[in-house]
Amino acid sequence: MNRCMESMKDHGLSNQYNPVIGLEIHAELSTRSKMFCQCLADYFGQPPNTHVCPVCLGLPGALPVPNRKAVEWTILLGKALNCKINKITKFDRKHYFYPDLPKGYQISQYDEPIATGGIFQLGKKTFRIRRVHLEEDTGKLIHKGDETLVDFNRSGVPLVEIVTEPDFTNSTDVKAFLEELQTLIRYLEVSDCDMEKGSMRLEPNVSLRKLKSTKMPAYKVEVKNINSFRFAQKAVEYEIKRQTALLQKGETPTQETRGFNETKGITFSQRSKEEEQDYRYFPEPDIPPFVFETKFLEKVEVPELPHEKVERYVSTWKLRREEALLLTRDKKVAQYFERVISKLNQKKPDMVKPVEQTIAKLIVNKKIPIDIAESEFIERALEKRKKHEVDEKILAGVLGKIVEENKKAVEDYRGGKEGAVMFLVGQAMRELKGKADAVVIREKLMKLVRRDQ
Ligand code: ADP
Ligand code: MG
Ligand code: ZN
Repeated sequence: MNRCMESMKDHGLSNQYNPVIGLEIHAELSTRSKMFCQCLADYFGQPPNTHVCPVCLGLPGALPVPNRKAVEWTILLGKALNCKINKITKFDRKHYFYPDLPKGYQISQYDEPIATGGIFQLGKKTFRIRRVHLEEDTGKLIHKGDETLVDFNRSGVPLVEIVTEPDFTNSTDVKAFLEELQTLIRYLEVSDCDMEKGSMRLEPNVSLRKLKSTKMPAYKVEVKNINSFRFAQKAVEYEIKRQTALLQKGETPTQETRGFNETKGITFSQRSKEEEQDYRYFPEPDIPPFVFETKFLEKVEVPELPHEKVERYVSTWKLRREEALLLTRDKKVAQYFERVISKLNQKKPDMVKPVEQTIAKLIVNKKIPIDIAESEFIERALEKRKKHEVDEKILAGVLGKIVEENKKAVEDYRGGKEGAVMFLVGQAMRELKGKADAVVIREKLMKLVRRDQ
């Protein structure tokens, strides 16, 4: 059995079916106040039911007032995902009964979401974004022994939902996409996307279709509320296995919502999926539709995104791609790096190698910590450079000259006198005024002498 077959077996894939996977991602926006009231949205760790008011408790007669920042941030996210921002958008009521939903409906967006039809580039692959819409989060149920308590602090916190087209065919791409998406959202500074706090939640939809079939499967299984990228990957892999086994027995997997058991690494049936009509969607009568002015939409500007930073670092600063990727993962690190570069350039240091490459290496290899003031970082960097750095070209020139001018030592070395090379190293170090590393010089000299033989 070759490796490929083996890994297919590991993942429960048979070559009869292709996975079809689409993702729904929720992220809580980190606005100061909630979506439709003035309660503070930062509920994490607060005593239960202390961030509540008639609006987010769903008391009769209370009226929702949309949070402008949340709307702007959803537009921003839509733009960053290359979506079309719809000039007309509205909120709708989505009805269902559950104790964490005090009004009996959730204010969400149905047929006129803020953003639609985007794309997300992941390396060479493109994944389509179906929509980005804005809604409100629900309260939280806390199960204690036989009792269930409810905390409404989370009720009404702004929540964006990003829905992809079912373009994924494997769990590795799913994980990579989700990680990239998290980085992107964090760059926009609209959500902390903290999986542990539940501010980013993942729902993969999985089905299988016959190889070569172009029709979408007649069912899909949604796995709800996953709170880690690794679990999302595991849940998808488990579903592929489970559904393959069913299909091979001639059965069609049930269309349903499943949960994920983290300890066992398996999914389990929760409920059969509601049909759209069960939600009885209708336009929210208390919030008139929005009609955005072009000027307003233009003012929402997308900052430089992680992949754009990577390209800029590689093309204008000639950093290695891996280095650029490491530097840009966390926006704070990238910003620190850029501030050091700009301050350093003002100093016009006589660094022979491009400063960007030198500083990038120091940060990526953690040679100097970045929790210190930039000025101190720069001092330490310059200190280090004195000891080690000499431009490659200058170095090559100096070494060439040394070899040329010390024919006798070169001959001695070639004749087997190992020690002769140290004489050459000494000459080179003097010429370079000690700015180079003796070990490096020795190696380079030895190479040079052997090559010229
Ligand atoms: P629902 O109305 O049940 O939420 P949607 O058609 O709106 O279903 O799709 C929700 C998510 O499911 C989207 O991410 C979409 O890409 C994905 N999806 C749709 N059909 C399938 C399928 N057959 N298999 C896997 N995922 C699917
Ligand atoms: Mg859904
Ligand atoms: Zn409130």
